[in-house]
Amino acid sequence: MATTKRDYYEVLGVDKTTSQDDIKKAYRKLAMQYHPDRNKSPDAEEKFKEISEAYGVLSDQNKRQQYDQFGHAGIDMRYSQEDIFRGAAPDIEDILRDFGLGGFGFGRGGSIFDIIFGRERREGPRRGSDILYELAINLEDAAYGKTVDLEIPRTETCDVCGGSGAKPGTSPRTCPTCHGSGQVSRTQSTPFGRFMTTTTCTTCRGRGEIVDTPCSTCHGAGTVQKKRKLEVKIPPGVDTGSRLRVTGEGEAGERGAPPGDLYVEIYVRPHSVFTRQDNNIIMDSTISFTQAALGDEIVVPTLDGKAEMKIPSGTQNGQMFRLKGRGIPGLHGLGKGDQIVRIKVAVPTKLTERQKQLLREFAEISGEKTRSKGIFEKVKERI
Ligand SMILES: [Zn+2]
Ligand SMILES: [Zn+2]
Repeated sequence: MATTKRDYYEVLGVDKTTSQDDIKKAYRKLAMQYHPDRNKSPDAEEKFKEISEAYGVLSDQNKRQQYDQFGHAGIDMRYSQEDIFRGAAPDIEDILRDFGLGGFGFGRGGSIFDIIFGRERREGPRRGSDILYELAINLEDAAYGKTVDLEIPRTETCDVCGGSGAKPGTSPRTCPTCHGSGQVSRTQSTPFGRFMTTTTCTTCRGRGEIVDTPCSTCHGAGTVQKKRKLEVKIPPGVDTGSRLRVTGEGEAGERGAPPGDLYVEIYVRPHSVFTRQDNNIIMDSTISFTQAALGDEIVVPTLDGKAEMKIPSGTQNGQMFRLKGRGIPGLHGLGKGDQIVRIKVAVPTKLTERQKQLLREFAEISGEKTRSKGIFEKVKERI
């Protein structure tokens, strides 16, 4: 506030010899021009505040004298802005009422600040909140996408009153305390200077308007709680933690403000067969040791039905084979993953006498030391 303040006479376009009556006329003219209800330019409020302050000083004999003698310093030292406005408030109210701009309740305990300061901090009706919805899907749906029907509990604008909260046929009135700003400002003078505090208006609880006859459906809230059915497309390639934004499907905004967004956060349930690693799908497939030794063709499950796979002879335990393009597509359609089949070779645990005989023969032909047979039998007995 202590920046280079313009001269009060200059602000009102008058000079030091101008009479009280002419000062009032000058103010009247400017007030009509810059009143924030009539002038929507961004600096109108600031300008209105400036002329009202100048008028507050120059319309008061004592303050004007003080100003003439000591300039701004003389005023600032002795009067707070609240003092200045409070003195001039009834006068300003009369002037504004002449233009049909009255009804601000000036004179009631410094409420002039509500329009002079309060509006500077005016916040519009708030946008609705976003909703986070957690959706569990299975791996197949994550891979190939799915359209799901969700039932989202959320607030929606009341159809009956259109969000105003007022009974149809009636309308809310502007809060007389805060004049619609939802906030009330007060300046306090202290030995260290003047401080302005802004608090939420208690009359309207920050809404800026008062509903006298509430809508019977929403009880004045303007919004109602609903369960909304929504169809949401899950694109192929999503993973746990993927968030899909559905614009405008969040909670309703306040009094016509836009709604929030809905975020669907994906959780992919663990699969009994497949493990995902990025866009690849990993699975274990168990084959017999003869299949591993001799080679075979096996059938393995994939996310997309069954696939045939060749096991070459001499396949080792833990060896991995790749089924190209049988994994999960990239989220944006690029870079489809593979299915990786990790082979487990099963060693038989129950052998018939005949099978044992054949294996011993096999070992002999392979040149393995037959001595191992004896040790094997002994250890087995001890167990
Ligand atoms: Zn309603
Ligand atoms: Zn209020």
